[in-house]
Amino acid sequence: PLAALNDPTLLKTDALIAGEWVGGNSRFDVTDPATGLKLADVANLGPIETHDAIVAAEKAWPAWRAKTAKERAAILMKWFHLLHQHADDLARIMTAEQGKPLAEARGEVGYGASFLEWFAEEAKRVYGETIPTTDGNKRYLVVKQPIGVCAAITPWNFPIAMITRKVAPALAAGCPVIIKPAEQTPLSALACAELAQRAGMPAGVLNIVTADGPQSIEVGKVLCSSGVVRHLSFTGSTEVGRILAAQCAPTIKKLSLELGGNAPFIVFDDADIDSAVEGAMVSKYRNAGQTCVCANRLYVQDKVYDAFVEKLAAKAGGIQVGNGFDKGVNQGPLIDDQAIAKVEGHVADAVAKGARVVVGGERIGDRFYTPTVLANVTGDMLCAREETFGPVAPVFRFESEAEVIELANATEFGLASYFYSRDVGRIFRVAEALEYGMVGINTGLISTAEVPFGGVKQSGLGREGAHQGMDDYVELKYLCLGDI
Ligand code: ADP
Repeated sequence: PLAALNDPTLLKTDALIAGEWVGGNSRFDVTDPATGLKLADVANLGPIETHDAIVAAEKAWPAWRAKTAKERAAILMKWFHLLHQHADDLARIMTAEQGKPLAEARGEVGYGASFLEWFAEEAKRVYGETIPTTDGNKRYLVVKQPIGVCAAITPWNFPIAMITRKVAPALAAGCPVIIKPAEQTPLSALACAELAQRAGMPAGVLNIVTADGPQSIEVGKVLCSSGVVRHLSFTGSTEVGRILAAQCAPTIKKLSLELGGNAPFIVFDDADIDSAVEGAMVSKYRNAGQTCVCANRLYVQDKVYDAFVEKLAAKAGGIQVGNGFDKGVNQGPLIDDQAIAKVEGHVADAVAKGARVVVGGERIGDRFYTPTVLANVTGDMLCAREETFGPVAPVFRFESEAEVIELANATEFGLASYFYSRDVGRIFRVAEALEYGMVGINTGLISTAEVPFGGVKQSGLGREGAHQGMDDYVELKYLCLGDI
């Protein structure tokens, strides 16, 4: 699938350190999840090269922070335009290594690029503050300065957007970065890095250290334990987030964590049911259910339960599953064998405990899974507690508002939540009661660069996107001017 690129030089397989492409001593395979075929072998780096990247970033920092915000913004904007110009190739690379349908990949290129534009604009608005004095002989000022060398460890489900969402605010604020992309999807990251080079990114400001699974652990240890690295941003599982946070504790590193979710999707009986079905479709089945904000538990009020299940099953049954490059396909494969095993496990567990498969419930080939709706789902099933990360919609029945709020909040996660209602009083009550960082009300799609994305409880720390997305990459410095 990669033979058809308009610009074959976007297909990079070496890592990027100090502005040089680094091949390393060993390589690892990147495969197409749709076919299982090898796409490329990529540099498999370790602690030594990671250390090189840290040194390169540290060296690049003074000149990068000394640039005006407008100068940094100009490079980010150039990068933004290059992503758009090469959107077709970037989408092909993404579909090949990640599996999502080409149209969805194209959408992610635009979404990923939007963070570069947004933070290029925000770079110019990192305002300080003056504080009214309480001592006539003194003046109080607050300035914001870049935090320093930043590291980012990113997942495979959004191979471009999860990088730009971290890297754009870091670069805009004046920080150099080291990225360790997911081992499943390094080619998207490296293609973006090539475009950053073309945009005029100075050597050492943007470094990409690629590594396979086991080596990623070693790379992570070096990044976390470094005293030079001042900030770590991670998107991935809560389990790995905990490990990284512990590894960062000795150096008191600032952390931005975007971890797992267990999103409730609540449909009250006063909702517009067709609209709720539409919302559930996009929230549940986008990216084959492999997003951390995917509806994981659907709670539908008694009176509208049967109608909702029937309509959702009819729509879900219409999804075309197949290779993301094929026309008409709107759901690709799951990322790997582990992912499909988890989905199968959740469905088998639910069925064994009394759930009914309304539609789907079948594996096709190695890694494809039919869009599934489960009815008569209960709280004792695995899918009630764990993130399924696949195209399975378990639908629970509930009676009252108080009951569903309690059920929705009964999890250690707190990323995204959704509910459908037309009652304005209920909208405020429920929105305020949900213990989540984000609440979609009468919509299943909430992500955009302008808003603060992030979770509470064990779903993470900090916010990405929005003007708040810059906060983690700057330190406040208080200046006290005396002797006026
Ligand atoms: P997922 O379940 O989505 O694959 P993970 O949390 O396992 O999410 O992985 C997300 C990212 O974290 C990937 O880039 C992966 O290589 C990296 N990673 C996983 N385990 C570790 C670790 N122990 N140290 C550093 N990075 C890790």
